[in-house]
Amino acid sequence: MRTRRSLLDLDDLAVEEFAEIFARTTAFERGEIEKRLQGVACVNLFFEPSTRTFTSFNLAELRLGADVVNLSPRDLSYMTKGESLEDTMVTLAAMGVTVVVVRHPEDGFPAKMALHFDGHVINAGDGTHAHPTQALLDLYTMLEEFGSLRGRTVVVVGDVLHSRVAHSLIVGLHRLDAQAILVGPEALVPTSYERDGVRVERDLSAILPSADAVLLLRIQRERFTQMPISDDEYVARYRLDAARLGLLRESAIVMHPGPYNRGIELDESVLRFPGWRYSRQVLHGLGVRMAVLDLLVTGT
Ligand code: ASP
Repeated sequence: MRTRRSLLDLDDLAVEEFAEIFARTTAFERGEIEKRLQGVACVNLFFEPSTRTFTSFNLAELRLGADVVNLSPRDLSYMTKGESLEDTMVTLAAMGVTVVVVRHPEDGFPAKMALHFDGHVINAGDGTHAHPTQALLDLYTMLEEFGSLRGRTVVVVGDVLHSRVAHSLIVGLHRLDAQAILVGPEALVPTSYERDGVRVERDLSAILPSADAVLLLRIQRERFTQMPISDDEYVARYRLDAARLGLLRESAIVMHPGPYNRGIELDESVLRFPGWRYSRQVLHGLGVRMAVLDLLVTGT
């Protein structure tokens, strides 16, 4: 049925649309807001916990003037009464729902929804596959700092294997001509990630001096049956702490998609580091999501 555009991963966007989304983000953040989604019905459907993504989609929709329904998965007939996903999506469309924002533990679930939905599906994170709006806000945060990402080095540290954030960001960095260096143990960052514009390294301290930006990742414990590395070993090799911060260039920034685990991937000194950009990321999450909603729905 896909007659309207969805955002399932960054591959769905043409390169010029990145710039378009970022320009709109700036406009929305400056308060040049028109309620461009007045009367547009949006459903937010989160099958996994979320603080930042859920709240910012919600606020973005409200600020655009949309009608917003937050549907709890346990209230879906799809979950308990044997209704198919196809029939669920047909039903929502028949009611005039135009946008469904979905987070789900299964890779590809938003794509399945989009197949049956005469509206826009926005992927708010599916399994370990993709988290396109998180990548857009991370890219926007770096662009705010550096103007352009061409030739910049972005170091991504930790559990890349299970990180939909990292998977989408790698796509985005490639589109914007930046170099990604993925750092972690083989079990979390297999060498198979290496390709044009993507390098894999094991020694964080050795790589930090070349970073323009560092993105720390949470270890996705909920996706492991057995942890491949102990906390002590992880901390010793990969935690960003005062000593490792000292290896960074003065202009370097540090980011984290949240939620961060103090004491594991970072220590308190990171939270006081002048280049710590977590709050900027969260702030831009709202503007970026307004921009994405606006682009998909108004198409102009
Ligand atoms: N909040 C991000 C996500 O949903 C990152 C994380 O959970 O570690 O993927």
